[in-house]
Amino acid sequence: MCPLRIGFGYDIHRLETGRRLVLGGVVIPFDRGLAGHSDADVVCHALADAILGAVGEGDIGRHFPPGDRKWKDANSMDLLEHVWQLAAGHGATLVNADITVVAERPPLAPHYKDMRSNLAARLGSTPDRISVKATSNEGMGPEGRSEGISASAVCLLSLPGA
Ligand code: MG
Repeated sequence: MCPLRIGFGYDIHRLETGRRLVLGGVVIPFDRGLAGHSDADVVCHALADAILGAVGEGDIGRHFPPGDRKWKDANSMDLLEHVWQLAAGHGATLVNADITVVAERPPLAPHYKDMRSNLAARLGSTPDRISVKATSNEGMGPEGRSEGISASAVCLLSLPGA
């Protein structure tokens, strides 16, 4: 048996005024930010769910209940690191991860490099193993109307004994 596990994660949050836009741990200049209990970093949330899926540990809603004050306004990079510690406890190492953000604006390409470095640092990995990219939604749907920003992530983990 091949000791590999794949995981998939998805998240979407609403854009609101008076919030900072944080994606992949990078604060991005914009007139609005994502609303949520934590900093609503959809990149971290989608990737964390992908990792949890790969090790069969449920989802971030189970590990970080929205009603739990401990995680109010949490830095989602800390949540991601917490999830990675759990996966590492299963003996996991990251083969690679690939993340696609759907946002009509702002342009995210200038921030890919910093996001990849941030994520790699929390996963004990290197930026070349973590891909971040983005697409617009051609004006369609909630992302296309700039009502929100979503992210999807897949990850491949090597898990001895799997
Ligand atoms: Mg979320």
